[in-house]
Amino acid sequence: MDNSNAEQVSASLPSTRTHELVASARWLLKMRWIAGAGVFPATWIACSVLNLGVSSTPLFITGVAILLYNALLWYWLGRLNRIADPQDVRYSHLAHLQVGLDWLAMTALIHFSGGVESPIIFFFVFHIIIASLLFDQRTAYFYAFTALLLVGGTVALEVAGRLEHVHVEGFLGTVSYREPAYLVGVLGIFAVTSIVTVYLTSSIAERLRRREDQLSTLYMGAQAVSSSLDLATVLNRLVEATAEAMGVSAASIGLIDSTGTGVEVAAAHGMSASYLSKGPILLEKSRVYSKVLSSGRPLIVQGEVDRSRFQYPDEKEKEGIRSILYVPLIARNRTLGIVRAHSSRPNRFTEDDARFLTAIAAQGGVAIENAMAYQALKKLDLDKSQFVRSVTHELRSPVTGAQSLLRGVIKGYAGGLTDRQQDILKRLNRRLNKLEALINDLLDLAAGRSDLKVEDNRSLALMDTLDRVIARLSVQLDEKEQKLVYDRPAGNPIVSATEEGLDRIFVNLVGNAIKYTPEGGTVSVQVEERDLHVATAVKDTGIGIPAKSLPRLFSEFYRAPNAKAFETGTGLGLVIVKELVESFGGRISVESEEGRGAAFTVHLPAAAP
Ligand code: ATP
Ligand code: MG
Repeated sequence: MDNSNAEQVSASLPSTRTHELVASARWLLKMRWIAGAGVFPATWIACSVLNLGVSSTPLFITGVAILLYNALLWYWLGRLNRIADPQDVRYSHLAHLQVGLDWLAMTALIHFSGGVESPIIFFFVFHIIIASLLFDQRTAYFYAFTALLLVGGTVALEVAGRLEHVHVEGFLGTVSYREPAYLVGVLGIFAVTSIVTVYLTSSIAERLRRREDQLSTLYMGAQAVSSSLDLATVLNRLVEATAEAMGVSAASIGLIDSTGTGVEVAAAHGMSASYLSKGPILLEKSRVYSKVLSSGRPLIVQGEVDRSRFQYPDEKEKEGIRSILYVPLIARNRTLGIVRAHSSRPNRFTEDDARFLTAIAAQGGVAIENAMAYQALKKLDLDKSQFVRSVTHELRSPVTGAQSLLRGVIKGYAGGLTDRQQDILKRLNRRLNKLEALINDLLDLAAGRSDLKVEDNRSLALMDTLDRVIARLSVQLDEKEQKLVYDRPAGNPIVSATEEGLDRIFVNLVGNAIKYTPEGGTVSVQVEERDLHVATAVKDTGIGIPAKSLPRLFSEFYRAPNAKAFETGTGLGLVIVKELVESFGGRISVESEEGRGAAFTVHLPAAAP
């Protein structure tokens, strides 16, 4: 990847460089406290211990100046941190000001410690490294050349006698600092060192920055891709992540078709409609595709390429595609297809890009496989529900037929019966009634799973339903001599549901309350309107639910041991209730203790009348 590509990538990402600039500004300020303070002991050693003959006063003054301007910069940074966000251009101004002042301070130190003889000249290299880390390569070169100009200019002025030259005792013996060979040697090496330093440092820094950008894209892509189980969403997010990470405008995902002989485009980004409709990719006709799939390795196709390697060379040229990167899409243990990025620029992709896209594709592959497995499970569940539905449907008609025949026989339409015969037929009738109830429950369950549609919901007055349900169940309440407490709210809560669904919810809950409460107990129904929802509590004073049964209450066919000993049932009612409540956007909760009654509360979102 060359520089302009790197810029494409970073432009679409939260820039690492601006964040870096803020962090580096602080770090640089801290370092300068040390460097500024370091001038004093260094000067003392040079003047008093090594007796180098340089004058300490101007050096001390420069040290003080460094500390002073650092204090001002420190104050400015503190203010910026309070008022500006990291993108603020003033952070960049601060960085340039810091480097500018350092350049002047360095020039002063060099001049006062011997000019071209000064060993401090090579300290400039540290500053050049810092500038290369802070700024882009061009700016870093600018600062390196400025350093050369400042040092070269100072030396020139000293040689010309315009500026007093400080001689360092014992450094140069017979050689004069005016000696051309000496000047050229020192300044030449300084120049080469500076330029090479900028080149090396900024190339390494640029690489690291690109890696950092890539990692954050990879991270964001992984999050986007794995946050959904919907196959189409996963595929679309993956192509977008690919295009963004590669900094190209077009990417696509092709999945191997069911016959294994071709690849179908499953998601595409940034491609023209005519290119997308070019036709299916057949492995026997596309050498590039078959090569990637059989080798399981990425492939870069760019520059002058043999047209025969492609199935659609004309379409490729018309689309203006000059470079293509193919990466196999591999999940756990099988190849699913190919991720492809392309560009209109020749020689656009590098090995580095191939490695990076392979990492993205690996994450995407797992997410795609998960979404596929989820889709298959959903389909299986639907098939199962449909199967249950058709079987129960077929079962219902002979049962209802048998029931009506039996009722006729019991009523004596087929001739007189003995008491014993009557008794047996009545028991048979009760069994058939139970069987019919079970079939109805199963039908409800299957119906709920397969085709409960939100658009079937209407705004319904909850109290109408509850009145109806209670009226219907009052016979059973009377039979068991149970007391009913029915608290109607002041208002008229409206919920969004189907009439039949709402009926079934409360027939089941109130029915259970009656069923699992001994004679003489109390059943209560309380409706409360809260902020955005309506809570309906169905309570009883019955046998209650053992603590260890509570978590399994809403699973198919589950019945608590105390309930089994108390009454017959199938254990499907609550499953149906829960599915219906959830299909209406609500939830159900239960509170109970064995032997102390139960309370089921249905929370439904309030709807507009
Ligand atoms: P059916 O499918 O015929 O309604 P069921 O009443 O046993 O049979 P659910 O209504 O699903 O099935 O209830 C499941 C279990 O939850 C019951 O078997 C019982 O153990 C417990 N349960 C439900 N309501 C109550 C209640 N009001 N009091 C005590 N236990 C209850
Ligand atoms: Mg029940």
